[in-house]
Amino acid sequence: MSNILVTGGLGFIGSNFINKIIKREDYIVNIDSETYASINKTSLNFEKYNNYKHYKVDISDFEKVDKIIKKYEFDFIYHFAAETHVDNSIHSSLIFCKSNVFGTLNLLESYRKLKKKNKLFLHISTDEVFGSINKSSFNENTQYKPSSPYSASKASSDHFVRAFYKTYKLPVIITNCSNNYGPFQNKEKFIPTIINSLIHKINIPIYGEGKNIREWIYVDDHNDALLHLSKYGKIGEQYCIGSGKEFSNLKIVKKICSIYDEFTKNEDSERYISFVKDRKGHDFRYALESTKLINSGWKCKNEFENSLRKTVRWYLNNKSLLS
Ligand code: NAD
Repeated sequence: MSNILVTGGLGFIGSNFINKIIKREDYIVNIDSETYASINKTSLNFEKYNNYKHYKVDISDFEKVDKIIKKYEFDFIYHFAAETHVDNSIHSSLIFCKSNVFGTLNLLESYRKLKKKNKLFLHISTDEVFGSINKSSFNENTQYKPSSPYSASKASSDHFVRAFYKTYKLPVIITNCSNNYGPFQNKEKFIPTIINSLIHKINIPIYGEGKNIREWIYVDDHNDALLHLSKYGKIGEQYCIGSGKEFSNLKIVKKICSIYDEFTKNEDSERYISFVKDRKGHDFRYALESTKLINSGWKCKNEFENSLRKTVRWYLNNKSLLS
């Protein structure tokens, strides 16, 4: 049995992660400050499990974080907590530095001081740290060139994590994942926004001409890769996590419109597509080479079309989470 700290476990990916491991024998502590992006605790229903404890704590508060880390002497820390919406970071970047950089640093400082032989800090980061790429793909050796205040804050936190490995030999693994989709994502994000617009019969906003390309991975595959790396990943190393499935934003919207029309017996949902002024500094394309992860024995299990259908179905069955 392990003691596991999940930060940001009321967020999209963190809550799916807890859901995946909560039935194991491990003891799970969740630190989440419950920002606007967190999911309503009753809909997650984690509290019914005896091996689960939630702390409403901001990771930028060192004393509180340190107390929890000392109390439980965690075997694993899965660090998801972050401010994550690029548009918000363009309007107001300070909170991104506070949570994503100082917050990460607090966890690292506290965890490195813990006198414990076997421990692992798994830092969950993004492919956005690499900037934009027109041809080929990012890999673990790609130079960091973040474009938005969000990606700059994540890049900075990645550097601190790497520095704590080099300087203090803190056992860490850094992961950079592509765009996730699946249940429980905040309605501000691209795929829930599309479904929400269709449900409310309002325009689906698409930046620019919709030509920007993203690689999409089902959230369960991301979390599966994190669990795989906690067992088979090499300490001090970085891994790119992707599915190899790339689509333009317009293509994703059209796919969802077609699934939505099929499920709801609607017709021509594409009429709601509306192109809006492009985001400042909008990266054109992200694409990852996940060879290092695949060579370590991991495989992406969920097929894209099926998982997208499952996702649309889930939001239709859980409309209240979009309101
Ligand atoms: P999210 O915005 O859905 O959830 C973030 C959670 O962190 C929320 O519950 C929020 O309350 C909590 N949080 C924020 N600031 C906090 C603080 N200062 N102290 C404590 N808790 C705080 O985010 P997500 O999409 O689940 O992303 C999780 C992680 O995965 C992030 O680090 C993100 O950079 C990374 N990531 C996300 C994606 C993606 O497509 N969503 C892709 C790659 C990497």
